[in-house]
Amino acid sequence: MGGWSGAQENQADPILANGVGAKPTANQQKKINERGNKYGCYTCGTKNPGTPSGNWVADHFPPTAVVKAIQELDRATGGTGDVPAQAFRPQCQDCSRTQGGRVKQHVETIKSWAQPPYSPQNPKTCRQPHKPRARKR
Ligand SMILES: [Zn+2]
Repeated sequence: MGGWSGAQENQADPILANGVGAKPTANQQKKINERGNKYGCYTCGTKNPGTPSGNWVADHFPPTAVVKAIQELDRATGGTGDVPAQAFRPQCQDCSRTQGGRVKQHVETIKSWAQPPYSPQNPKTCRQPHKPRARKR
């Protein structure tokens, strides 16, 4: 068992969220389900979503809390707060539950970069190198 290698995502169009933390539309959820049924959970690879509804969990990537922290950091360091668009990835219920702790840790790390003292190693290292992608309607 294993999550996605990355090839799955490159082959398919990214399903982009309509704003930071936006919920998937019915049409997007349908695509997420199709992708989950085909490739499995992107974290662990299971083909079983594990939800009562049978819908795959629409996981935001990068995680919303991380994106918000990056946004805050960017503004705090004089930026515009522009962030990369988030893509939805199918995730199973179990992985969705266990992911929260790791995300929180990452957010704390990012927030600490917005605090002085700044150093050359400090805020800029974990910034997403890419610009926000154009959002689809
Ligand atoms: Zn999983």
